[in-house]
Formats: sequence, C-alpha cells, structure tokens
Amino acid sequence: MLPYGRQSVDESDVTAVTTVLRGDWLTTGPAVAAFEAELARWTGGVPCVAVTSGTAALHVAYVAAGVRPGDEVVTTPLTFVATAATAALLGARVRFADVQPDTGNLDPDAVTALLTGRTRAVTAVDYAGHPADYDQLREVTERAGALLIADAAHSIGAAYKDRPVGTLADLTTFSFFPTKTVTTAEGGAVAAADPELRTRAARFMNHGLVREPALQREPDVGGWHQEVHAFGLNYRLPDVLCALGVSQLRRLARFRERRAELVARYNVLLRDVPGLTLPARRAYVSPSWHLYPVRVRHGRRREVYDRMRAAGIGVQVNYIPAYWHPVFEDLGYRRGMCPAAEAYYAEELSLPLFPDLTDAEQDHVVDTLAAILR
Ligand SMILES: *Cc1c(COP(=O)(O)O)cnc(C)c1O
Repeated sequence: MLPYGRQSVDESDVTAVTTVLRGDWLTTGPAVAAFEAELARWTGGVPCVAVTSGTAALHVAYVAAGVRPGDEVVTTPLTFVATAATAALLGARVRFADVQPDTGNLDPDAVTALLTGRTRAVTAVDYAGHPADYDQLREVTERAGALLIADAAHSIGAAYKDRPVGTLADLTTFSFFPTKTVTTAEGGAVAAADPELRTRAARFMNHGLVREPALQREPDVGGWHQEVHAFGLNYRLPDVLCALGVSQLRRLARFRERRAELVARYNVLLRDVPGLTLPARRAYVSPSWHLYPVRVRHGRRREVYDRMRAAGIGVQVNYIPAYWHPVFEDLGYRRGMCPAAEAYYAEELSLPLFPDLTDAEQDHVVDTLAAILR
C-alpha cells in the first residue's frame, strides 16, 4: 500500500543514530542541545525544548501557559484530538471555534465570539502546513488577555508574512512523528521566546526539577541537591532520537522543496478532475506542506476513500472533528457546533505526500483518482 505519508531516512540518519549508540550519552547528553539549537534555526532563533512527542509538547505548552481547572482553551476541531485532549486533561474547558471553509484553519471571528474572562489560551493549528491567520489571532487573543499557542505539528519550515513558524505565537509546538515533515520516530518540541514560559516548559518536562542554586529554597545542602517546586513529568527526548532529529533537520529544506514540487504537480494534474476542490492557499503565507488535502464533493468521499484503498493507495482523512469523539460527546459536546469544520471533514481526503514519492507514483495516484471521478 502506498502510504499517505512516510519518513525519509537515509544513511546519514543511520550514521547519526549509531554514533550516539556507540557513545556515552543515550539520553540527557549533548545531542539534545544540538537538536534544540538546530531547531531554533527554523524558528527564527526562538529557543526550543525537545520533548517526547507532539502530544507531550502540547501538554507542556498548556502547563507553561498556566492552564488549570476552570480555564477555557479555544481551539479548532479540525485537528488531531491531542490538541484538545491535553488541555482537557489539565481540567480546562475546551471551546471549539469554527474554521475558514477553504483553508480549514481557525477563523479569528469565530474565536472572538468564544473569548471570555476565563480564556487562558487560544490554540491554532496550521492545517496541512498552511499557517493560520496569526495577525488577527494575535489581536483578538491579546485583547482577551490570553496566550496564543500554535500547534505547528504540520508546519515546521513554513512562514506567515515572511515570519517563520515558531515566531508567530507565544508557544509553538512541533511533532516529529514519522508521517510529519521531519521525524525522530516519536518526538516533539516547544518553542517560546519568553524566558518565563520557556523555563516553565523546561521544568515541567523534566520532573519540575530546580537545579539552579540561586532559585532553590535550600541552596547550601550540597552538590547533589535539587528541588521540585511544582510537579512535572519526564518528557525528555533521548540523545539517540535527537541525533536523528539533527540529521533530519539538515534535510528539511530539501524535504520542503520536494513536498512543494509535488503539491504544485497535484495542483496542475488534478485541476480539471470533476468533483474535486483543491487546497486553498493565502498569498501571504509560504506553506510547508505536510498534507495534500483535497475535498471530494457530491457526497462521494467514502466511496473514493474505499476505492483508492482498494487500489493500494493509502489515502487518509484528516480529521474527524475533535468533539465528535465520544469522550467529548459524553461531556455534552454536540454535532453541528462547527458547521464549516464538519463540512470540511465530510469531504476531506489526504492524498499521498512525502519526499520520496516519485512522479510516477504520483501520476498513478492522479490517474486512479481521476478514473473514479470521471
Ligand atoms: C501529529 C499531531 C499531533 C500529535 O503529535 P504526536 O507526535 O503524534 O504526539 C498533534 N497535533 C497535530 C495537529 C498533529 O498533526
């Protein structure tokens, strides 16, 4: 089955990993800082903290933002459930704002309508790798006294009005799952320009440990002394995976270019196929395409999904609206709440997109899809 996304791993990745395996530090070693530094080159210099997954990154970001029971977090339903689940786990009430019907990104006006004195954070998702409308989101979020979070699991390397992803929100989260644009197998990161947010993030992902004597309550106990001032978890990304991350980031420019090339080819090859809506793109963004999301009109998405899979083409659907999951349904969330997101979901189909997809394989995807729809 041709997958909808897959990693691109070459000998330089294998060498990077085996070098670490033969060394002294499997985790908490120098590869972590090296990966974080390499990552910051893609976030406009905004410092990053590596963690074990995109989900961990979201959890850490919400903790750093101070999300607690009674708070509200506004986000999009057109995302992987983790964007909302991590806020709900902290006791926040998740409020789903609808999306723009063409990009699938959070609609700033819909966000505005949901802001209250309890809104702690607004989390945008750069759906498919196309940045959300950050200027407007920043404006409405600031007015409400909330923090702006970017779930950039799809969009590493993208830019909005020439500003790179990582600089656009107070906290930005990344995922390095194998289908994403760069991979560490499992992995993620949080970027934050504000030192206080960054410190809270860095503490929480490492048990809450305070190691700086100047900040300890009992700094004179001895060299072994460390203190926990707030509970934390272990979300450390090991050196083995950080080394893979460094090696992958060195090829990100090429990954991004090849993905853009494949997107441009899809746009041309699918232009005249009936019953399809191709992905929208704002003139002021420079996407880093993670997905190629087409919409299949006339209620034929299920049929096209089944027939593509039967033909060996691993199409995917991104995403089931987050609040359709029974866990949210049981909390009283009802279908119909975000009609644009639901309409988008009803038609959405992600076609194969990854750097090693060949032109011939892509032609086969296009021909198969066109044959079904014509
Ligand atoms: C992949 C993804 C996540 C979760 O990342 P993991 O690394 O799989 O935990 C969160 N949000 C979005 C939008 C994603 O695509």
